[in-house]
Amino acid sequence: MTLASRVVLIVEDEPQIRGVVRTLLQLEQFRVVEADTAARGLSDARMHKPDLVIIDLGLPDRDGMSVITGVRAWSTVPIIVLSARTEEAAKVAALEQGADDYITKPFGPRELTARVQVALRHVATLAGAGTTLRIGRWHIDLAARSAHDVEGQSLHLTPIEYRLLEVLRQHIGLVVTHRELLRQVWGPASSEQVAYLRVYMKQLRAKLEPDPARPQWLLTETAVGYRLAQPEE
Ligand code: CA
Repeated sequence: MTLASRVVLIVEDEPQIRGVVRTLLQLEQFRVVEADTAARGLSDARMHKPDLVIIDLGLPDRDGMSVITGVRAWSTVPIIVLSARTEEAAKVAALEQGADDYITKPFGPRELTARVQVALRHVATLAGAGTTLRIGRWHIDLAARSAHDVEGQSLHLTPIEYRLLEVLRQHIGLVVTHRELLRQVWGPASSEQVAYLRVYMKQLRAKLEPDPARPQWLLTETAVGYRLAQPEE
């Protein structure tokens, strides 16, 4: 499949935002299908079988969340949610309903196209393909559980730290919620223990980030979770 044949469905009632998204994606050679209500979004998703869906959470007829649930009932298509800065709880709920990522309004053109490319690539390469990771000067082999820099200096990471990196690596470039990380690393019984994550993220940043106070790789998504930055290509 060529890039030119890719279809993106945008479900958003504000014509201005739809227009911006359409223009940006058309510049990247996507075909864009537009829906202005939840009901139209659901029927367009079935009819056009898009490669990616962008959903605004505030729609006139029904909550955008119902579109996520509806699409997820039969499709694994990547879903990106559009949300306002203040809607942290809604973002978390959308991610738990099966959205893959979100973009906070207002967004910049580069941010939108980068998120779209990451979400599509994530599907193309299948989650979790590859077991090596580069963070700053460190090359990390998740399968062998070893980490070293170009000079051969090695770095000790604990099993939990490797496990955290593994989960983030499976979603590279995408946000992972606190609950999801906790579930995957410590198990379902620990899914509310956000303090665990803070401790381990702090440790990981101290070990891996060139400037732990200003992380470039292990990024905080306030009140939602963490994102492992996708290296620039
Ligand atoms: Ca709206």
